[in-house]
Amino acid sequence: MTVSQKSQQFIDLEDKYGAHNYHPLPVVLSKGKGAFVWDVDGKKYFDFLSAYSAVNQGHCHPKIVKALSDQAETLCLTSRAFYNDCLGPYEEYIHNFFGYDKVLPMNSGAEAVETALKLARKWGYLKKGIPENEALIVACEGNFHGRTITIVSLSTDPDAKKDYGPYTPGIEIIPYNDVAAVEKIFNEKGDKIAALLVEPIQGEAGVFVPDDGYLKACYHLCKQNDILFVADEVQTGIARTGKMLCSEHEGVRPDIVILGKAISGGVLPVSAVLADDEIMLTIKPGEHGSTFGGFPLACKVATAALEVIKEENLVEKAEYLGKIFREEMAKIESPFIKQIRGKGLLNAIVIEPHNGKEAWDVCVKMAENGLLAKPTHQHIIRFAPPLVITEEQLREAIEIIKESIKMLE
Ligand SMILES: *Cc1c(COP(=O)(O)O)cnc(C)c1O
Repeated sequence: MTVSQKSQQFIDLEDKYGAHNYHPLPVVLSKGKGAFVWDVDGKKYFDFLSAYSAVNQGHCHPKIVKALSDQAETLCLTSRAFYNDCLGPYEEYIHNFFGYDKVLPMNSGAEAVETALKLARKWGYLKKGIPENEALIVACEGNFHGRTITIVSLSTDPDAKKDYGPYTPGIEIIPYNDVAAVEKIFNEKGDKIAALLVEPIQGEAGVFVPDDGYLKACYHLCKQNDILFVADEVQTGIARTGKMLCSEHEGVRPDIVILGKAISGGVLPVSAVLADDEIMLTIKPGEHGSTFGGFPLACKVATAALEVIKEENLVEKAEYLGKIFREEMAKIESPFIKQIRGKGLLNAIVIEPHNGKEAWDVCVKMAENGLLAKPTHQHIIRFAPPLVITEEQLREAIEIIKESIKMLE
């Protein structure tokens, strides 16, 4: 991929002064609108990553940006040492929107996962009666829940985990999409297990969609064994998969829901943990918090972002457009394409390396042709455009994908 001199300057700065904890495609973006982004040379691209599904509402959505700028001129941050006139109305809105008694607002997705794990442990000791310091959390192989020490302690990805030990104890890892494994661990250690933590679809693992019935079976096993079913919906939630929460595909109502990313429309880091009183009220004043968690700007932005989801029927759109996407991808006859999978507008193509070209090369070719996506785990490309993309735009993007793959054959 040819990189302009102007782009190269920005790349060099990141390289020289920033930590090297990412490996971006060599594209330098400076503007976004709806389903599109532009680079510093003015070249326009379809954004098929959507900041890992944080910008479901599209880039710079006018309603969300207005909520941000209006509140920014009024009151940004108070801390939770005082009340403010944004948090209560936001919490009520979230209660009505998702149907949980309470919300605990945080900032990043990882913080919300940490919060959910702390909450599950609290509940385990105070309600379930697990002996002190013996609570277990069960998580699944291939998971991605963020980057903190406890969360990487759950990880089975050596890149995420290696040399960050010693790891947080009290963790059990079982294979994903394996009901028998859940049953087995619950039979063996159920008395001490506080929670099962699952992604309804494993996004970072490469949009790995479990078999129909998996989540429901996990949920019922949790109920039978007095174990909390905790759904990490940071990537799958907020309309991405064609339901407001991906768990709804199986009619499951998790005991704890973890939200992040698109709850703010990608405008601010906003995350949230949802639970009913029985669980949430086990955490008492002073026992958990965050300076920015639920700050006025976040409250206004997240409310606007969720309103946009409803007003623009993005749940239905994701479902409808996702079907078109998978149908059209299935029509491509190419040695590169091994499998197409996903739900709603969270999809992936598993790439079979061909002619010495792999997923990275496909992504570079697509970028040259005006569409941005990023490989995950070397051989998988995730396709997750903003949900505001129109059918016409989607069909145009599909042509770019087809053409790019053909050009490499
Ligand atoms: C992105 C992601 C997280 C972490 O969110 P951050 O805001 O990056 O900390 C957690 N869980 C899932 C499923 C994610 O996709």
